[in-house]
Amino acid sequence: MKNRIILATQNKDKIREIKKILGNKFKIIELKKHPNIVENGKTLEENAIKKAKIIFNITRKNFKADAVLADDSGLEVDILGGKPGVYSARFAGKNCTYTDNNIKLLKFLKNVPYKKRRARFRTVVAIIFNNGRIKTTEGRISGYIITEPKGIRGFGYDPVFYYPKLKKTLAQLTAAGKNKISHRAIAFKKAKRLLLKT
Ligand code: IMP
Repeated sequence: MKNRIILATQNKDKIREIKKILGNKFKIIELKKHPNIVENGKTLEENAIKKAKIIFNITRKNFKADAVLADDSGLEVDILGGKPGVYSARFAGKNCTYTDNNIKLLKFLKNVPYKKRRARFRTVVAIIFNNGRIKTTEGRISGYIITEPKGIRGFGYDPVFYYPKLKKTLAQLTAAGKNKISHRAIAFKKAKRLLLKT
């Protein structure tokens, strides 16, 4: 029998990406109505667990799902003490665009030499099983913030995040190529293993 999963996100791109990662052993239940969740946690872990708990509490009476999954991701730049981190989406302010965030980041790193521009993307996935047990998994990818955007694919900080192993920014990779190595893919693959074990 398939694992029935509820995803605590309404982002269609993410749902598509996660479906691909989880594969055909899972049935994803999409919610028609999704609450507006304020992501005010101090860490990615806090936010992911908060999202999963809210959806778990709303849906557990109506659905016979095996688990609720929620994720939170961010970019951590070493020389900025791990910022923007949990504030990655709104680094340049409320309602800012991806471009605004990248401009602000490059300004902060002006004159910083390549070697000191080390950064990582991190994703935390929170899983709440139908008995209420909570587990988290994590995925990371390390790289460097370059001095100007390169590539037109992806989203967010992808054009300024250089991945030395492939000698490309994430925005220069195809969607399939990014999915092979991304922080999100790593975290969800670990979650998949946990779900298949139970
Ligand atoms: P979320 O938690 O997945 O919504 O990610 C929060 C923010 O982190 C996004 O709005 C992006 O700014 C940034 N981010 C997360 N994952 C990625 C990625 O794979 N590429 C580029 N930016 C990302």
